[in-house]
Parts: sequence; C-alpha cells; structure tokens
Amino acid sequence: MLKLGGKIVRIDAVEVSDKAHLFRVSTKDLPCALRKDRAYLVGAGNIPDGYVHYLVPQAQESRIEETAEIGAYTVLPPEYFYLGHDDVVRLSADRTSIRVLFRANSNHNSILMTEQCNHYCLMCSQPPKSADDSWLLNEIEDLLPLIPKDTVEIGFTGGEPTLSGDRFIRIMGLAKSYLPRTAVHVLSNGRSFASLDFAKKYAAIQHPDIMVGIPIYSDDPTLHDYIVQAKGAFDETLRGILNLKLLGQKVEIRIVLHKQSIPRLKELCEFIARNLLFVDHVALMGLEMMGFTRANLDILWVDPHDYRDTLSEAVGILSRYRMNVSVYNHQLCLVNDDVQPFYRKSISDWKNEYAPECASCSKRDECGGFFSSGVKFGYSRKLVPFL
Ligand code: SF4
Repeated sequence: MLKLGGKIVRIDAVEVSDKAHLFRVSTKDLPCALRKDRAYLVGAGNIPDGYVHYLVPQAQESRIEETAEIGAYTVLPPEYFYLGHDDVVRLSADRTSIRVLFRANSNHNSILMTEQCNHYCLMCSQPPKSADDSWLLNEIEDLLPLIPKDTVEIGFTGGEPTLSGDRFIRIMGLAKSYLPRTAVHVLSNGRSFASLDFAKKYAAIQHPDIMVGIPIYSDDPTLHDYIVQAKGAFDETLRGILNLKLLGQKVEIRIVLHKQSIPRLKELCEFIARNLLFVDHVALMGLEMMGFTRANLDILWVDPHDYRDTLSEAVGILSRYRMNVSVYNHQLCLVNDDVQPFYRKSISDWKNEYAPECASCSKRDECGGFFSSGVKFGYSRKLVPFL
C-alpha cells in the first residue's frame, strides 16, 4: 500500500503559514520561467537552481550540502519513493506533513471533497465526520489548475460530494474548464439530484465526459434505507437517477455485495433491468474491509466463494437485458467462468495487494487482487491459484 500522506523528516527555509501550499512536482530541467511554481524532486543528477521548493528524499539528504543554490526544501521519508514528474503534493500549513494529492502515472486519482455525508452506510469505508471541512473545496480549486491537461480520468469522492450544493456545481465546472479532455467520475448517493433544479444546474455544465456513480443496495426500499441508515433515501436516490437521465446525464449504479444485499441481489438486478434500463453502467462490487465494515463484519461478510453462483445469476440477468455490467473488487479465482468477461481489475493501485497464496498463481496479472485492508483483516480461505 502506498503511503499518500504523513509527517516529513525535516523542512528548511520555509516559513509556517496559515495556509497549506500546493506544489506541482518536477524531475526535469524546465525553463526558468516554469520553475517559480514548481517543486523539484532531487534525484541522482544535477540539481538545477531556481525552483521555488525542493523535495529531497532522505537518501539524497547529503546532497543538499553540494549546492549553495538550493533554497527552501523538505526532506521526505523513504515511503514517498514513488513520487514523480507532474505529481501534486500539499505541504501542510504548519509545515510538518505532506500529502500526495495527484499522481500523474496513476489512473486512480480520487479527490476527496468532504467527509460529511447524509448516509451512515453499514459498510462505509470512510465513516462520515460532521466537522466543517470546506477548506477541502478551496484546496480543490487550487489543485485543478495544477493537474496535467492530458490526464485521462479523475474521480471526486466523499462523504457526499454534492452536499456543498452550488460549490459542487462550481467545481465540476472548473474541472471542465481546466481539464476539458479529462473524464470525471463522481461518487454520490444521488439524493441531491432529486431536486430538479440542482440536477439542471449540474446538466448545464455540459461536461463532455462525466458520470455519477450512485449506489442502490436493494429493490426493497426499507432494506436499502436500512443499509444506508437513512430513512427515505431509496425514494430520493431513485428520483435523483431519473432526473439525471431525464437531463441526458451519465449514471452508473453501484451495488456492494454483502450479507444484507446478496439475498435480494437477483431481485435488485431484475428491478434495475426493468425500471432503470437506461443507466449507463452497473458495477457489482466486493467489500472493502475498512471503516464501518470492520465494525459490522458479522452482519456483512460473506465469502465470495459462497456467493459466486448468485453473482453469476445477477450478471446474467443484467447482461441478458444488454446492460453494461462490470464486476469490481473480486478475485479472479473466486468468480465463475461466466463472470470472467465482466471481470475488471478495479482496486486503486495505491491500495492494491495480493495474498501470500497468490505468489504461485499464473493469472496474477489478470487478477485484481485485494484491497490492502482485505489482506490485512480477512479474505477468503478458498483461493485456488491458477496453475
Ligand atoms: S490466487 Fe490468483 S486468481 Fe486467486 S486471488 Fe490470488 S492472484 Fe487472484
């Protein structure tokens, strides 16, 4: 698991501020005019002067003495070995920690908009917090101009990203302006879009490639509301999806598979196929062993090996209706052959690991593996490495 944030080793010639500082990282000898806004990541080669900041891996710390030209710098612990050109990092206001906000060589850049949420899902991997974290929105507005224009895709996540209302709309508009060729994926519970006015504001952005991923966990409203711990959520979510599609927006339905959702999974897929045939994608997703999932493991965990036939039937229902369906966050040896055409390697690279049993597997490259938390806190004991 890659470490995306934490304490730094040492900082020099940088004044404490009331504001965090964002830097786009460079490993290249850029023209002088471009150096003023960038942080240079010190490597084995010459250290060019003129950069506004220098990031010095601890192993290179002795090189600071080599040059009188280096100004403000931060010494990084070894865990940030993966940093590269065009990544974006944040130095905290108190200058004691760093966070990697964007990795240029990754297709799994997810931008946190808030930790607040109007759901309290049994399996939430990032339990909601009520504190005002609107500073995250300010930071996103600073971040978007720093992201390379050729970025293929970025995601926005929460909490519930739409809770900030017009500020959410503004940020989606900025994403379109700064990154017009970058696909955007928003994870939302969809309830804000039950307001036709809000859905219209969102549609008016006219982003060329944006999709909202919205969870539905049951065709039974009471059960869905229980899983998300919010009364009336099912109705609002459905109205949100209908409004988005009415306005020609792309929608993905996400179903997390666990002890509460699996017993009615086939009925849910029938419901989706008959009533929401027009959505753009349906993702059937494995559990992540983080946050509330670990606390609620007794009422959530089902070995994927034990629901593999139900998963086959669910995929079969959706695909027979010619819906676009994918299976995410599963292990290749734990799905039936008929699911494999729909199987995707989906776990974000920074939290993707394999179990010790996988060492001998011949299909490891095709398998999505596990969340790091799964390897650490529990996974199926029925793995069958391919010969
Ligand atoms: S044994 Fe192979 S298929 Fe099974 S989880 Fe490990 S790598 Fe994936």
